[in-house]
Amino acid sequence: MNIILIGPPGAGKGTQAKRLVTGRGMVQLSTGDMLREAKDSGTVMGSRVAGIMARGELVTDEIVIGLISEKLDSLDGAGAIFDGFPRTLAQADALERLMADRGTPIDHVIEMRVDDEALVGRITGRFSCANCGEVYHDKTRPTRVDGVCDACGSTDFLRRSDDTEDALRTRLMAYYKQTSPLLGYYYAKDRLAVLDGMGAVDDVSGAIAHVLDA
Ligand code: ADP
Ligand code: AMP
Repeated sequence: MNIILIGPPGAGKGTQAKRLVTGRGMVQLSTGDMLREAKDSGTVMGSRVAGIMARGELVTDEIVIGLISEKLDSLDGAGAIFDGFPRTLAQADALERLMADRGTPIDHVIEMRVDDEALVGRITGRFSCANCGEVYHDKTRPTRVDGVCDACGSTDFLRRSDDTEDALRTRLMAYYKQTSPLLGYYYAKDRLAVLDGMGAVDDVSGAIAHVLDA
């Protein structure tokens, strides 16, 4: 099964994707993670996108479609969770073509709805494990032992440089202008499921399971 998680920054896509990886053996394909990796390892492409990402704007379709198509080759039969991709209609069309060529269509597109005010709190309190990428929050999901990752025991944590109120404003605008038209696109294809992303993490996981197991 292949699914897309779609929602504004801070909706909980990464958190839920990680649960699906652990619980169902699916593979998380996050273009944000891929771009941050390219940036951190100092590739030419990474340095080209650094400023765009810091401002919260979208990088070009060509770059992210290239990244995704490379990763699809390494899926090895596992189901994919697209997290943060597609974000434009051109990306959605490219993904349709890539998946049709492989004979593995997208089964469900899950929209996670969260109020804008809640997103500010989620984004400004987010941090993650530098070793395994587990996602935490200062208030809603602190580590069980202060300063130690629940998942892998690492004591190194990261805060994203674009998790500021300023960059979030630009990221939200990009979401509403460029990404939200995809909701109509997938609705028309009868693949869209909408769920309330405001509930507790376990409740959101339950709602996703309900869609996947229907
Ligand atoms: P996204 O990948 O959509 O940008 P994340 O999964 O990184 O979002 O979540 C953003 C922040 O909100 C993180 O700090 C995460 O711990 C927290 N979070 C995720 N889901 C929930 C939830 N259902 N309730 C409260 N906080 C949440
Ligand atoms: P994310 O980790 O999904 O919040 O993405 C972080 C940043 O990476 C975004 O603000 C964009 O600058 C860039 N990015 C990630 N995915 C895409 C995409 N599919 N299309 C364009 N830009 C993207």
